[in-house]
Amino acid sequence: MNIHEYQAKEILSGYDIAVPRGRVCLTADQVERAAKMMGGHCVVKAQIYAGGRGKAGGVKVVHHPEQAQELAKELFARKLVTPQTGPEGLRVRRILVEEAVEIAREFYLSITLDRGASRYILIASAEGGVEIEEVAAKTPDKIHKLTIDPLTGLRSYQARKIALALGLTGSLCEDCVELILSLYRACLEKDCALVEVNPLVVTKAGWLMAMDAKMSFDDNAIYRHREYPDMVDYSQLDTLEITAGKYDLAYIKLDGTIGCLVNGAGLAMATLDVLNECGGKPANFLDVGGGASREKVAEAFKIILQDPDVKGIFVNIFGGIMRCDVIAQGVIEAANEVHCPLPIVVRMDGSQVEEGKRLLTTSGLNVQCADNLGDGAQRIVKMLG
Ligand code: GDP
Ligand code: MN
Repeated sequence: MNIHEYQAKEILSGYDIAVPRGRVCLTADQVERAAKMMGGHCVVKAQIYAGGRGKAGGVKVVHHPEQAQELAKELFARKLVTPQTGPEGLRVRRILVEEAVEIAREFYLSITLDRGASRYILIASAEGGVEIEEVAAKTPDKIHKLTIDPLTGLRSYQARKIALALGLTGSLCEDCVELILSLYRACLEKDCALVEVNPLVVTKAGWLMAMDAKMSFDDNAIYRHREYPDMVDYSQLDTLEITAGKYDLAYIKLDGTIGCLVNGAGLAMATLDVLNECGGKPANFLDVGGGASREKVAEAFKIILQDPDVKGIFVNIFGGIMRCDVIAQGVIEAANEVHCPLPIVVRMDGSQVEEGKRLLTTSGLNVQCADNLGDGAQRIVKMLG
């Protein structure tokens, strides 16, 4: 789960990490008023669930409240496209107005999960800012990494080593040690998958400050934080993913043409692999879960059909907990309700499989039943020609 920069900064400031004074706004008039509050000279920052805003024109320093208002109007009116949003871009519904800060140096600092090591890893660079991807690609030796042992946690001497590697000395170095330790505490207590400060700056006045902040939470830990669901900005999410969330379906849009309806995440991933192997391109990942009801299957089916890229549907269900006749009823019900003209291949196995197949073949739908995963994948690819 992602949150906006302004929300991440609120959290970090609760851990005594300095952030610029700012105000989040929903209209261009609010932006103008906030700019006045900051003394006219301020930074206008589009809030979207993606980075790379600076280069895309989503972060600008302005010198007058009217200029801030004009810029806000422009940002609210269009979608912001950055290398991280994909070509369709993201709508801007919130703008953060911050006091302008004079920057002397920009660093990169983050903590994220290293899945290979099953540990949090701290990443830092003295060459932070909007070119960090290029630094990582061209001069990886300028990126410092530290794997954190969960048993001992992050120790001061380790944080100091990083601060020194960033070229900080004296009291700034000690401030940076405190900041790194605070960042780690925030990361643990908020169950973060990622917390990133880029740039972390030294201001011309000589203070450390988090100029940007990105935070994402581990989805499996959301239940431990009652405030998280209220922090979601739905304008940033795919509408089909929102609907899927309502019905507790795990749905992720992909860029192919074959809609997939599968029970179990492992089987869903295997299905995508086998489809690819047969020359098909999956349009989505969709896991209806173990004990899905007929209604849930029907909703899943409707979600897949709302995607205009879908040209055919592959249902792959192992009926261990779910009965195959129930699945078949769900598919038939949904396909009829939305007048589905697309070819469908159903591969089912498990309890009541014969009855399920009988229901499907007598349904009048453009449907074929498959005996196994490989057979099913080949059939749907063939049906799409
Ligand atoms: P991102 O491009 O989405 O990562 O957005 P950032 O919040 O990191 O902003 C991009 C760049 O704008 C930063 O790297 C800074 O160089 C610059 N920037 C952001 N806030 C300020 C500010 O208050 N003063 C100045 N001078 N530059 C800023
Ligand atoms: Mn940034």
